[in-house]
Amino acid sequence: MSKHIITQDYQVNKEDRRALNKHNSFLIWFTGLSGSGKSTIANVVEQALHKKGVKTYTLDGDNIRKGINQDLTFTPEDRTENIRRIAETANLMVDAGLVVLAAFVSPYKKDRENIRNIVKDVNFVEIYINTSLEECERRDVKGLYKKARAGEIKNMTGISAPYEAPENPEIEIRTEEQTVEDAVQFIMNHIKSKLKFSDE
Ligand code: ADP
Repeated sequence: MSKHIITQDYQVNKEDRRALNKHNSFLIWFTGLSGSGKSTIANVVEQALHKKGVKTYTLDGDNIRKGINQDLTFTPEDRTENIRRIAETANLMVDAGLVVLAAFVSPYKKDRENIRNIVKDVNFVEIYINTSLEECERRDVKGLYKKARAGEIKNMTGISAPYEAPENPEIEIRTEEQTVEDAVQFIMNHIKSKLKFSDE
């Protein structure tokens, strides 16, 4: 970073925006294998938040890779850069006063730690969507596992690339034992205190 870049202070800050919104802002990060249920659960959590009047935005892997990160591949270096850019984008949105939901495989522990550093620990809720590879492969929502087994896709997480499971996520969901509705209820209960509605 150039030494000539100096941060400008603006008069309207994050706390002002949070106060106007009447809720806190933070990042809810869903990690897990492809097909584990990240987008499905994030989608229903966002609906529940929206119904409560919370201002939200969801960042999703495919959308980001078609846009801001269209120059990146699935090599370890590019996966790291993919997550770094998403974390910086999410950080701006948290600064803007939103509750941001992000659903990304994000297989590397060090990349997820980096997100925590970028948005700050207090603004980060890591949710591990824990679904076995066997079940993800059985679901094969996007047909990616079949292609990976046939050698058509390289660097497929769980098949030919590693997934480093979180050791201490704020929340763990086991989709083979919990319904989507149960998972959403569990997540909503957990983040309730974090929302800190100023009119409640
Ligand atoms: P990801 O975003 O992790 O790649 P998706 O949400 O796209 O995964 O796909 C998960 C699939 O698993 C969906 O078809 C969903 O309906 C199914 N599924 C079955 N049971 C569950 C559950 N308990 N939680 C989440 N998804 C589930």
